[in-house]
Amino acid sequence: MSAKRVIGVDLGGTKILAGVVDAEGRIHETVERRTVTTSQTALLDELADLVRSLPFDGVEAVGFGIPTRVDQKTGVALGAVNIPIHGVEFRSEMERRLDCPVGIENDANAAAYAEFRLGAARDVDDMVMLTLGTGVGGGIVIDGTLFRGWAELGHVVIVEDGEPCRGACSGRGHIEAYCSGRAADALARSVIGPNATAHDLVAEAHPALERIGHHLGVAIGSFVNIFNPQMVVIGGGFGVAALDLLLPATRLAVLTEALAPAGQELAIQPAELGAKAGLIGAGLVAHEAVA
Ligand SMILES: [Zn+2]
Repeated sequence: MSAKRVIGVDLGGTKILAGVVDAEGRIHETVERRTVTTSQTALLDELADLVRSLPFDGVEAVGFGIPTRVDQKTGVALGAVNIPIHGVEFRSEMERRLDCPVGIENDANAAAYAEFRLGAARDVDDMVMLTLGTGVGGGIVIDGTLFRGWAELGHVVIVEDGEPCRGACSGRGHIEAYCSGRAADALARSVIGPNATAHDLVAEAHPALERIGHHLGVAIGSFVNIFNPQMVVIGGGFGVAALDLLLPATRLAVLTEALAPAGQELAIQPAELGAKAGLIGAGLVAHEAVA
């Protein structure tokens, strides 16, 4: 197992990061390119070309973390917001182009699995991760196994008939509408001024962050009541930057919403792997494709 080399690919809206990853999750050679958005075929060709630009001899599998929902039974990528992927048989298309086993996973699930194996949650068996970036993503690991369903945790309702989601989601009152970096930007504009951003809220330790912290705690309380994780990991640019300021209100809401004693015992920690989590997670997905 430890001799295996795989390639992980983190496909983002603006850039693609690919790298050779060993069985311990260590990253070796990497390469990065801008994401091709002209057409689906052009993007799939570009991904194959990028993978082949890495040392490919002895590589046993390739794993992709992709910003779409994934049907693991069929290997179909259901549809992305910012990149031209819509209902394509992603796994078989890439296996055909690369002539090796391919694993695919939602990028947030992949990042959660990386934090579980190598990052903030490496010492626990059960974890939920919430990524507070432009949107809100997440992943769930129970008894050491990644839940490989949709895990669109950002689109869980926390306020009935609340604020609308944006983009492809028609829902209201979802976590993403209250706890994302974009939601924090909107809050900053309303409480500081028209040019303010989430960064200013954090820099000023603005008391309005308590509202986001409360919503986050309500969300976490419900996840605790389903999964009873030992730890919730908070990732994403906004999440990691703001966590210390969010935590007092978050903890208070968790204690109210979560059934005792889970709320008291829950650890809430910042993600540790940063921008590399997606690549490492894609590599781990590749290792599982040949396990
Ligand atoms: Zn939504």
